[in-house]
Amino acid sequence: MSRSAHPAGPRYADVLPEGGHGAAPADVNRLDRKIWPGGVVRDAGSGALTFAGADVRELAREYGTPAYLIDEDDWRRRAREWVEAFGADADVFYAGKSFLSVAIAKWAADEGLHLDVCSGGELAVALRAGFPASRLGFHGNNKSVAELERAVDAGVGRIIVDSHDEIERLAAIAADRGVRQPVMVRVTAGVEAHTHEFIATAHEDQKFGFSLAGGAAADAVTRILKHAEQLELTGLHSHIGSQIFDTAGFEVAAHRLTEALAAIRRDHGIELPELDLGGGLGIAYTEADDPAPVAEIAARLKEIVARECDAAGLAHPRLSVEPGRAIAGPPGITLYEVGTVKPLPGLRTYVSVDGGMSDNIRTSLYDAEYTVSLVSRASRAQAALSRVVGKHCESGDIVVRDAWLPGDTAPGDLLAVAATGAYCRSMASNYNHLLKPPVIAVKDGTARVIVRRETEDDLLGLDLG
Ligand SMILES: *Cc1c(COP(=O)(O)O)cnc(C)c1O
Repeated sequence: MSRSAHPAGPRYADVLPEGGHGAAPADVNRLDRKIWPGGVVRDAGSGALTFAGADVRELAREYGTPAYLIDEDDWRRRAREWVEAFGADADVFYAGKSFLSVAIAKWAADEGLHLDVCSGGELAVALRAGFPASRLGFHGNNKSVAELERAVDAGVGRIIVDSHDEIERLAAIAADRGVRQPVMVRVTAGVEAHTHEFIATAHEDQKFGFSLAGGAAADAVTRILKHAEQLELTGLHSHIGSQIFDTAGFEVAAHRLTEALAAIRRDHGIELPELDLGGGLGIAYTEADDPAPVAEIAARLKEIVARECDAAGLAHPRLSVEPGRAIAGPPGITLYEVGTVKPLPGLRTYVSVDGGMSDNIRTSLYDAEYTVSLVSRASRAQAALSRVVGKHCESGDIVVRDAWLPGDTAPGDLLAVAATGAYCRSMASNYNHLLKPPVIAVKDGTARVIVRRETEDDLLGLDLG
């Protein structure tokens, strides 16, 4: 097709290069180790995926699709890696919002993690699991009085306060109960993490935290110290964003936090014993993502805080961090069945699966990128530029925007999307009255449903007619 033959309309060649699909892979069956869970292998005979010792075709037959699968050993190994890397003089809080269920809270407790919750519902799950309340942290910019009461009554180890209103509310609740509640102050350190705007949280113009630069953080500290009988101020907290790959942002945050600790010592004569640098460490969703080893990150963060404190003449505070996705994301995949395949000549092939934006909103919400693979067989076909889409009535219902799938991908094939263990089930919706998929933990070839699939009765049970 020559250019002059179609002077008016767009040429396919103009349309194609949009997006970050890169070149077709040499081997469409290859699984990149840094993206897929540790327990994933392609069976040499069938070409199908074995997930933590179980054949995904059998899992699909038994539990249906879509389904979230978690490689339990991989999840636990990552949790241990964080706990060991930070050592006995730091605490690792798992950010429960990335994905929390009773089983997950038990794994977290087993592996020595602390746990962050940010709503009454997440707190309820943690308490149902018997998670030690002293190892819980409670976050949020608008915790209700009922949520705060429940947290105080349960003995939550620390509440991260986020507004002047909340300080007064919490002081009143603690006074009423006759307890002294440990709290941290969430501050905005003015760091803009290099990430999508919706998940960058430490710049000033946003709802979370007290501004360090504007003086609100200092006011919050003064206010809390006035309630010293009800509130025990243990330290400062900062969370600079998510899906961050270098420690430069943490370095700036740590610098500003230690300046604030020094100012508190000057103004109030106290050294706060704790410092929380938040979460946000990135994971590999695609080949382009290159996360540093956890041990390296831990060493770097500890070194930064130690250096800043030494410079300010402060004792080293007990450090805490709050990884969510870095623990829960990589061990999880979503298994889908292909329903329809629609090749658009010269553009790409639309491959529709039996879920979509209701089980993974991140692609439409954040332009998130994912890696997908045909997992029920190996293929000898050439890679075809594809888009994996869901079944919702919405053209933005995209699961993987740019995917290279085998050109012979067909209805009935199983696809797996990698690194969906965080922020997929936890952000799932019932849009179009789809039923939320189950979460299945697999270990040594044995599968266990830890959250069952929703049923129409679940949906209609809420509908009072
Ligand atoms: C979301 C969040 C985290 C976890 O972020 P990840 O990107 O999952 O590591 C940690 N701390 C706070 C306060 C958060 O809001």
